Amino acid sequence: MVAVNRGLPRLVASLRPISSSAVGILPKHVKIVEVGPRDGLQNEKNLVPTQVKISLINMLSETGLPVIEATSFVSPKWVPQMADHTEVMQGIQLFPGISYPVLIPNLKGFQAAMAAGAKEVSIFGAASELFTKKNIKCSIEESLQRFTEVLSAAKEASIPVRGYVSCVLGCPYEGKIAPAKVAEVAKKMYVMGCYEISLGDTIGVGTPGSMKEMLSAVLKEVPVGALAVHCHDTYGQALANTLVALQMGVSVVDSSVAGLGGCPYAQGASGNVATEDMVYMLNGLGIHTGVDLQKVMEEGAFICKALNRRTSSKVAQASCRL
Ligand SMILES: [Zn+2]
Repeated sequence: MVAVNRGLPRLVASLRPISSSAVGILPKHVKIVEVGPRDGLQNEKNLVPTQVKISLINMLSETGLPVIEATSFVSPKWVPQMADHTEVMQGIQLFPGISYPVLIPNLKGFQAAMAAGAKEVSIFGAASELFTKKNIKCSIEESLQRFTEVLSAAKEASIPVRGYVSCVLGCPYEGKIAPAKVAEVAKKMYVMGCYEISLGDTIGVGTPGSMKEMLSAVLKEVPVGALAVHCHDTYGQALANTLVALQMGVSVVDSSVAGLGGCPYAQGASGNVATEDMVYMLNGLGIHTGVDLQKVMEEGAFICKALNRRTSSKVAQASCRL
């Protein structure tokens, strides 16, 4: 009896509402970068018809999303799903106020993207030496060197460049990645001229704990306003990881409609966090995104039907009336 009474004050204390300082100061506005048409579709085994990709992007443009990554100008030998990049870029309607960045691997890709009408590009590096070696057959340093000519060409043409860092919370070949390594690569890409660095948990192994540790290291090197997080949901941690990043001041998040995606080089990696789930969480936090959840759910249903797959969005599953 005595022991129970002694335990009570502690229990009551734990039930008190969380103070605002405990959750951190959340951003008032969050920019959602939709990566489904590229990061999502590139991992689909069956070739998605070009017209379906174009329709998806056009419909996503009506949802209020400010950025839609449209395609990739990586060699079709590596990513056959994106072989129709030029047709996609030329087929989509470019809505005013929306950016349609495309992924490029090198100067050749940059030139092809420019010829197709792209106005923004993304480049990619990784925080893991082994992943870089297996993925693009060179060291991290060499991979970044290859992008210097892209960045100078982009600067000359006034084309903004976004940088991805893959494997920031773990690598399928190396396992744990040192936060200092992520900070080093992120800083290099920022110094090279990337206006935004998207930190990717490519295989979705991170937790709020490892996200906090990694971001603390990166924030010492790159201003928070230039950071984005890109979480995959393999271990069901993507929203929790994103929330930690928001609490640490990050206000740009990547997500993918219907949770499409994965990583061709990381077996078993599930898709990006679903845009539907991201918008639902941000709405619940009172954070403005400008994105219409209902419309995103409709586009999610469209692409799942076209691909004959189930949505990976929990929100879409919960709202399904079938
Ligand atoms: Zn991804």
